[in-house]
Amino acid sequence: MSRAVVALDGARRVYPGGVAALRGVSLRIGYGDLVAVVGPSGSGKSTMLNLMGTLDRPSGGTVRVDGYDVAELSDREVSALRAARIGFVFQQFHLAPGVSVLNNVADGLLYAGVPVRQRRRRAGAALDRVGLAHRLDHLPHELSGGERQRVAIARAVVGEPALLLADEPTGNLDTGTGAAVMALLRDLAAAGTTVVIITHDRDIAAQLPRRVEMRDGQIVTDAEVPA
Ligand code: ADP
Repeated sequence: MSRAVVALDGARRVYPGGVAALRGVSLRIGYGDLVAVVGPSGSGKSTMLNLMGTLDRPSGGTVRVDGYDVAELSDREVSALRAARIGFVFQQFHLAPGVSVLNNVADGLLYAGVPVRQRRRRAGAALDRVGLAHRLDHLPHELSGGERQRVAIARAVVGEPALLLADEPTGNLDTGTGAAVMALLRDLAAAGTTVVIITHDRDIAAQLPRRVEMRDGQIVTDAEVPA
């Protein structure tokens, strides 16, 4: 079997207080895959994404990212793996207010140890890629929701991660703007980035080539969607 960018094997997560949010999840996602994660609220989608993103560690089972068993790495090594290999996009954009678009994106390279001039040059290229080369000096509050999410995507991909994790990236956008953001995520996947998207939107899920459906902390369907 080809190498997976993410491999979960019997991954479990029990939160303090005893909530079993993930109850033995096994999943392999290959390089360049484009995957929708769907399921009702509370079914464990964000918990699974946090494990894939090394933001959290499993209570049991294994999580491998880019071949590394996360449990075998120190906190510093996990941070380095995350900085080099994983990008995140959230529903709420999470841009720094009062910081220019260019610097918001350049800051995505802070933890990768890239010198400041190179950070700004690469940020400019990432913003060009998402169609915002004309907005470099703007502040986040001067942008529309769709533009803010494109900035957030530029920040997530400026370090050229192998894996892009998106938690409801179109949740705060109208249908047309959401479709444009989805088109951008598809382009990134076509260019080789693995993209995993949590979505409530059935139309979006139906457009993606693979759909993983969760319920009560387990995967109940893992389906390739016919093109
Ligand atoms: P989803 O993303 O599908 O809505 P989550 O992964 O956020 O689901 O949550 C799964 C379950 O774990 C829910 O019952 C939720 O209440 C619980 N949960 C999530 N985060 C925490 C936490 N930090 N502490 C305790 N329980 C949590």
